[in-house]
Amino acid sequence: MSPTLVNLAYLVAACLFIIGLKGLSHPRTAVRGNLLGAIGMLIAVVVTLLDKHIISYWLIFAGFIIGSGIGAVYAYKVKMTAMPQLVALYNGFGGAASLLVAGAVLYEAGVLRGTPQEIAVNAEFILSVFASGFIGAITFTGSMIAFAKLQGLTKETAVRYPGDQIVKIALALITIVFAYLMLVYPDSSIPYWFMVIVACVLGVLVTIPIGGADMPVVIALLNSLSGLAAAATGFVLFNTVLIVAGTLVGASGIILSLIMCKAMNRSITDVLFGTFGAVEGGPSDDEVYGGKVKATSPEEVAMLLEGARRVVVVPGYGMAVSQAQHAVRELYDLLEAHGIIMEFGIHPVAGRMPGHMNVLLAEADIPYDRMKEMDEINPGFKQVDVSIIIGANDVVNPVARTDPKSPIAGMPILDVDYSKTVVVIKRSLSPGFAGIPNPLFAADNCLMLFGDAKKMVEEMVKSCKEDFG
Ligand code: NDP
Repeated sequence: MSPTLVNLAYLVAACLFIIGLKGLSHPRTAVRGNLLGAIGMLIAVVVTLLDKHIISYWLIFAGFIIGSGIGAVYAYKVKMTAMPQLVALYNGFGGAASLLVAGAVLYEAGVLRGTPQEIAVNAEFILSVFASGFIGAITFTGSMIAFAKLQGLTKETAVRYPGDQIVKIALALITIVFAYLMLVYPDSSIPYWFMVIVACVLGVLVTIPIGGADMPVVIALLNSLSGLAAAATGFVLFNTVLIVAGTLVGASGIILSLIMCKAMNRSITDVLFGTFGAVEGGPSDDEVYGGKVKATSPEEVAMLLEGARRVVVVPGYGMAVSQAQHAVRELYDLLEAHGIIMEFGIHPVAGRMPGHMNVLLAEADIPYDRMKEMDEINPGFKQVDVSIIIGANDVVNPVARTDPKSPIAGMPILDVDYSKTVVVIKRSLSPGFAGIPNPLFAADNCLMLFGDAKKMVEEMVKSCKEDFG
């Protein structure tokens, strides 16, 4: 293929990535955006296969079949609630691929030295290989730790030890020493692989102190790093489309991290070096709940709803677990048919991934104009007759406003406690992701509807149908 044709195809692919990303910014255009991005990637892959000097199509074909097979099985099997773990794994494998490709090219450069295919080994090349290996290694092990935390294989809380920042700085400096050795001994791959080992340890140490509610930001950050590692590999391979795609992933991941930090009233440095997630020393469940929690029934909630004019539903992780969104849609239809306004308050970090609640509600065909962002819905909670919290906990926990020592201190929450009555649907008084009790459940205006979210909403629908006639 002529280089002009290749570059033209890469340009088309890059445009499709950008238009696709734009589409992903709204639920209505997200599916089309995803498709455009996938077409762009298909063009990039096919053109690269035709352009480069391929040694073995069979190996590529075998990798393609095995990788696609595993990917397809996982994509079908994975539960929506386990999506962040899957994203963490994908980020990690992206990082691992980058460091392996950079290592392979460095080795190839040594082998080809003095032949007509010789690769120009200059400072720019070595620094690209270093960046690819360094960022790739941190992304790989950091993502594996994030995966283990989210999957419950290890403690979700922050792991800290004396002098941890100094150890990390020391390791980062050691990788720079190896970068220098790579420049001095460009024919040897050994400094590169030692640097990769040190960066792998650094990836673990950077991620273990992050816990509690900071995990969403870390996932977005690791996603960004996997893009930057790919972009660095693009420089190693002189592949424009890899540089463009990697940069887009890197930039969008950083933007998402910043948006999430803002939503949680945190700075990136607080997330990476702060003590968020440590839960020792807070009040016990008994102190918060002792004798103050009032249980209710679906029939009682239906009666409350009959007298309401404005209802706000706040969905959370539990709605995703029980897949209650279709039952919620039934309740929405019923209330709206009786002139009761029902809106949805969406917290930016509700659930376990960005946009989790929007995706679930859109799947149940809830109109987009009824899904309100936190800033939009919060000022109106005093006029809300009933707020129904479906499987949410941290995102409605008032200690974020009142207790500066709490692990979620400063995180903006949905102000449901200001509404006239609050109904919380969950199975027990167990804590949410941040691992702390929620005084909302013991508030005077709060009723607890204990049970599985889907079952409880279905029973509420049944009772409403009987009451409304
Ligand atoms: P939480 O994790 O705070 O609480 C979820 C609640 O759902 C639990 O208290 C649980 O209580 C309840 N629940 C679980 N299963 C069911 C069920 N079948 N039926 C009814 N209730 C159920 O969720 P939130 O959405 O309020 O907050 C999200 C948290 O996750 C935040 O701390 C956020 O930082 C974090 N996070 C967010 C990510 C994101 O990108 N959105 C990614 C990673 C973490 P019980 O067991 O008693 O039923």
